[in-house]
Amino acid sequence: MGSKRVVDIRVLPGEPTDGSGRVCVHLFVQDERGLIVEPHALHPVFKDGEQVKQKVQAKPTHGRLACDPKRGVAPITHRGLTLVTPRTDDPRAVTCVKCKASTDYADAMIRIAQAEQHNSVKG
Ligand SMILES: [Zn+2]
Repeated sequence: MGSKRVVDIRVLPGEPTDGSGRVCVHLFVQDERGLIVEPHALHPVFKDGEQVKQKVQAKPTHGRLACDPKRGVAPITHRGLTLVTPRTDDPRAVTCVKCKASTDYADAMIRIAQAEQHNSVKG
């Protein structure tokens, strides 16, 4: 007989809490002074100073959440209820309202727009 385990994934404020609401996904911002360490953050691969296309490597990376630099992201379990903090470093996947209002989010969106422009020019 195993004990029941429940994982609580926060939905956006004002979203239905009947399980149909959209999950609150935060923006992970790379920051050397950040409190969070993501073990498998993806980084571009460079060879002879040139970025290798379609290739990324995973390595531990310090960072923080855009909406709350003091918040940790480790799952917290209390009386069989596990709280998790979904996050991403792709701003297009972010749904957290506070993260979206941050300058980190604006900067990340600009970087993505620039990278896409760069790619379309290069072909
Ligand atoms: Zn957030």
